[in-house]
Amino acid sequence: MSLLSAMPAPFSPPADLLDRVRMSRRPLLIAHISPDGDAIGSLLAAGSILYHLGKDPVLACQDTPPASLSFLPRYDRITNQVHEEVDLVIALDSSDRERLGNIYDQGRIRSLPLVVIDHHITNTLFGDCNWIEPRACATAEMIFDLAQALEVTIDTQIATCLLTGIVTDTRGFRTSSTTPRVMRIVSALMETGADLPTIADLALEARSTELIQLWGRAIATITVHQGVISADNTLEMRVDLGRLIRAEGLASFLLGSRDAQIAVVFTELPDQRIECSFRAQPGQDVAAVAYAFGGGGHALAAGCTVDGPLEAARERVLARLYESLRR
Ligand code: AMP
Ligand code: MN
Ligand code: MN
Repeated sequence: MSLLSAMPAPFSPPADLLDRVRMSRRPLLIAHISPDGDAIGSLLAAGSILYHLGKDPVLACQDTPPASLSFLPRYDRITNQVHEEVDLVIALDSSDRERLGNIYDQGRIRSLPLVVIDHHITNTLFGDCNWIEPRACATAEMIFDLAQALEVTIDTQIATCLLTGIVTDTRGFRTSSTTPRVMRIVSALMETGADLPTIADLALEARSTELIQLWGRAIATITVHQGVISADNTLEMRVDLGRLIRAEGLASFLLGSRDAQIAVVFTELPDQRIECSFRAQPGQDVAAVAYAFGGGGHALAAGCTVDGPLEAARERVLARLYESLRR
């Protein structure tokens, strides 16, 4: 028996979702703004699965995917302009409509049926058909089950994309969402020939020297107070660092501090708004804090974007975090 057929109970896509996908000729797949490995891995894997079903999928994301993911097959196919006549919209790894960015404002996309495939506990059920599995470690885990339900064989390229989503959202199998089932799926994906060590290195470890410099500048600002470790990533810190915006991975790194239950990085955006990235130790719930500020995420990893200036935003958000820690 192959590992794939010996898999424990999958997350089951709703029949309605399968019908809509089967009926579509040219679906538009959208990954969330500021995309991560799960958003892009799920987008490319789902795109290939639908292609294998004889469809002509369009893959879109408002923001340019991180260069660190350019090793993924068909990375260059992702567009930020939709010119094609699409007939179905599939949102991936996105907990609310704003996460689809300006892709959703183009042409007649808003008038098309919308299918949402996501694993965020804070999902607002913004689709006409919503498949949400908060226990899934990554949207990529759900796309694995989608392939099974659609009876599409997972090849090495699809497996590479799914492994990227799983490896990044579990931070290398270190989150509590990393179940024995996840490891069985990973094993099955490796059986297709996908190269897990290389994927993990490229998706988790490889970073530009500029990003490391930005980490350095942001780390120089850390404060630790009432169990929260906090750092700033300001516009000024980045003037000489090209197009770099986010201090990717920094919040997780800061949570290594044993003096903190919660880590937060405040990023000043070009429009003066402030992006907040939260990470927390087990037992905390930063998704609730993020949600209160219009964002979302998971209990232990969440985010939101609030109005600036930085000092005022920091004060407001930290007050909420302290309050959440006292509970
Ligand atoms: P990040 O800190 O950007 O890696 O995000 C951590 C988690 O929170 C991910 O699951 C994101 O999808 C989610 N998240 C981050 N920002 C937002 C937001 N503004 N709205 C909803 N979810 C978010
Ligand atoms: Mn994501
Ligand atoms: Mn995800």
